[in-house]
Amino acid sequence: MQLYKEQHLKIYNSLSGQKEDFSPINEGHIGMYVCGPTVYSNVHLGNVRTFMSFDVIFRYLRHLGYKVRYVRNITDAGHLENDADSGEDRIAKKARLEEIEPMEVVQRYTVDFHNILNAFNFLPPSIEPTATGHIIEQIELIKNIIDNGFAYVVNGSVYFDVHKFNASNDYGKLSKRKLEDLIHNTRELDGQSDKKNPQDFALWKRAEPQHIMRWPSPWSDGFPGWHLECTAMSTKYLGEHFDIHGGGMDLKFPHHECEIAQNEAAKGQSPVNYWMHANMLIMNGKKMAKSTGNYILPGEIFTGDNPNISKAYSPSVARFFMLQAHYRSILDFTNEGLLASEKGFNRLMDALSVLNGLSAAERSTIAVKAWKQKCYDAMNDDFNSPILIAQLFEAVKYINQIKDGKASISSEDLNVLKETMQVFIFDVLGLEQSSETSPSGQGKLEGAVEILIKLRQEARVNKDFALSDKIRDELAAVGIQLKDGKDGTTFSIN
Ligand code: AMP
Ligand code: ZN
Repeated sequence: MQLYKEQHLKIYNSLSGQKEDFSPINEGHIGMYVCGPTVYSNVHLGNVRTFMSFDVIFRYLRHLGYKVRYVRNITDAGHLENDADSGEDRIAKKARLEEIEPMEVVQRYTVDFHNILNAFNFLPPSIEPTATGHIIEQIELIKNIIDNGFAYVVNGSVYFDVHKFNASNDYGKLSKRKLEDLIHNTRELDGQSDKKNPQDFALWKRAEPQHIMRWPSPWSDGFPGWHLECTAMSTKYLGEHFDIHGGGMDLKFPHHECEIAQNEAAKGQSPVNYWMHANMLIMNGKKMAKSTGNYILPGEIFTGDNPNISKAYSPSVARFFMLQAHYRSILDFTNEGLLASEKGFNRLMDALSVLNGLSAAERSTIAVKAWKQKCYDAMNDDFNSPILIAQLFEAVKYINQIKDGKASISSEDLNVLKETMQVFIFDVLGLEQSSETSPSGQGKLEGAVEILIKLRQEARVNKDFALSDKIRDELAAVGIQLKDGKDGTTFSIN
């Protein structure tokens, strides 16, 4: 029997604002679409957090026995600066600044995105479509929307008529906004004078002569609006009505609101049953974002080369840090948080080694099966990874009690404990027991480096700078960098 028949999953649906019992459209199958990156720069850790939230959701749905078709797009055209309807295309701008082809920009940052996600042990999506690969589908959708009377053409551009749509539908139902409030709050921006109303949004834009990313269409040589690509690609691969649509919280409005409007206008039905939104990673009190310079790159986490952190962290430690927060909570990125997560992660890995060496007794004094169900209960409750992790630490307590002879476990329960730990730590949370964290490998190396740091410190106290420099340089020669800071010396291993 499939696990999903006995485990009752609840998902928080942004559309209803409530946790709902999850039931897919086709039994045993799930269609899930997640908005992918705009590939005009390196992904920062904030982007990674959103994709990680959906990686764990994907992993758990698969673990429950669902056949999941997970579609995550690549935005390689149509996303303008400031998420606006006018201005330069983000990719074209980067191409202009770097004097390369837009598709070189796309290639470079798509490769970077994949490399980073691989480093964090993400599962690949089932389909990864690109916006430029679906121009025809987008043009067809625009034709439908025009035919149904919800869009108008001005000077070769096509706009979605939000006011007309709202007369028969509810524009704002996802983000809980009212059109009247939007009318009061929108400013008329330069270059938007083609629109009947400032709330209208572009489905197709006529390209200015200098705009290099352009395609022919019935209305002009131009390019599609940003919101349209996700409508085209989600419904192409998942059908006009599918189960789950996800993305970062900041995409709820206008991007996802517009997706709903486009679908209802083109096909007469709301596309998605469960809308899911992952919350933001913040740093120094502000949202992590490329545009403000308040960000950290994953590569910097792995080398320790960023002023916000004191040392390097492995991908699994960074992953563990992020999963210790629920996906709908804001997470504050701090060095202290990472240090604590590293300790916690190592404790978990150490307990796994102890677990492998435990022997069974006649009977159990701990309730392993009830504990196992608590792990499922945590994930069934809208994918509550922090509660799951708390349960994993309950198991660490049991393991140490058994090791110390203060508790015992039957061989059947020992197998359940081992299997459940494996499933949740590696399959569901996607953590990896790297050589860096295994006590037999990197742990010993780290211990040895700490000894050398102490010896170097003693040499400096004794004013033996020749020796202290020798220790530093020879460690550097084998790829171990020492970093002197106000709180002492730390190191990174390349
Ligand atoms: P973009 O490439 O800007 O479209 O962003 C890709 C994804 O990263 C989107 O789902 C965003 O919502 C998400 N994102 C951007 N900044 C953050 C952040 N600071 N924390 C979490 N997710 C973010
Ligand atoms: Zn999207």
